[in-house]
Amino acid sequence: MVPESAALNGQDIHVRNGLIVAIGENISAPASTLIDGHRSVVLPGLVDTHWHLWTTLLRNLADNSAGNGYFEMTGRLGKRFDPNDMRLAAMLAAADAIDHGITTVHDWCHNIRSPAHARAALAGLSASGLRARFSYGATRETAFDQPLDVGDFAGLHDGWSAWSAGGRLTLGIGWRGVIATVDGRPAAVPDSVWRADLALARDRGLPVSVHANNSVTNRGHIRRLAELGLLGTDMQIVHAVNAESDEIAAIARSGATVSLAPSSELTVGFGIPPVAALRRASVLIGASIDTPALVGASDLLHELRTIQGLANAQEGDEIAMTPLDALAIGTRDGAASLGLGNVSGTLSPGKRADLIIVRLDALSLQPQVDPATMILRSVRPSDITLVMVDGIILKKDDQLTQIDRAALLHEVEEATARLMRNAR
Ligand SMILES: [Zn+2]
Repeated sequence: MVPESAALNGQDIHVRNGLIVAIGENISAPASTLIDGHRSVVLPGLVDTHWHLWTTLLRNLADNSAGNGYFEMTGRLGKRFDPNDMRLAAMLAAADAIDHGITTVHDWCHNIRSPAHARAALAGLSASGLRARFSYGATRETAFDQPLDVGDFAGLHDGWSAWSAGGRLTLGIGWRGVIATVDGRPAAVPDSVWRADLALARDRGLPVSVHANNSVTNRGHIRRLAELGLLGTDMQIVHAVNAESDEIAAIARSGATVSLAPSSELTVGFGIPPVAALRRASVLIGASIDTPALVGASDLLHELRTIQGLANAQEGDEIAMTPLDALAIGTRDGAASLGLGNVSGTLSPGKRADLIIVRLDALSLQPQVDPATMILRSVRPSDITLVMVDGIILKKDDQLTQIDRAALLHEVEEATARLMRNAR
């Protein structure tokens, strides 16, 4: 995934203390543990750029029926979450992410019902071994004219060294922006409220993520952010589904990035993400899971295939986006869009060792010539034989090394039974 470089053959990758220290032929590192990569492809771990991790505990529960759509269901059941449910959801999400070759997630956390809820979610992320951005957001029921809990956020940030897991976890703000949806209609968020929430991030040099131009009622949000001079390189726009050309140009000028989740955007009825227009404007794009309540398994390669399909369909051109370009969105560009471009997203000496190994011998991967095409089209979790984050192996030979699958399944079943009791 290093730009302008071809895929390399017959190379060794030397990892030391969580860092990629060398890539080359016949590296001599006699004290190292050898991992055999013959008949395999090694690539950077996949990077998710927006995922409401807590909704993983509500996987498959939005059934697109009246009264049980995504917003209604998650709004109703989210109220029942105790802190341990937040931890459990993070662990369930992490287990599936690791299985699918995802090494970085962006937890857009909007169910922080108490300080303990945030810390429990972080405890789950920390234990999972994943690299993660934790974006601290308001709950769904927080009134649009009520600011975030400044004291709790400040306390969390001031004590961040206790949560950062040596830099593996980073903190940001899940911002609500300047236009809210109230009773199905757009409403201007009071200046004092959005300024206070935004200042929590920008006064501290932390990144900002905001949902904008997702639903019909949120049209023009990006334009308003641009008019107010609020876009910037520290800002990620989530969805941007109905962004118009002037809004896409404003994103591009500002250096803000965009996170796309085509499966959830289609299923929930937001619309069709303007992949081709964003690429023509050279906007940096990342791919995202968004919510397993709508999309099921955390299959980021599926999102990348859909993004490629949209780009080619919108351009009317089969070669508008190559498989390699699509994989870059899921690795290098995704990492850069989170401000982690120096940390992960490519296999390069000096970056952290976030990588996956794909074994090539499954019949469903045959025949194969171009590795990028094969990976984008055909790889399943069972082909991903090793997942490493920060130099730590999280999956090996179909086993999760840090997560007890049976114990997690038992805990999830108990939590689900409690959450669903008299819930409809
Ligand atoms: Zn979202």
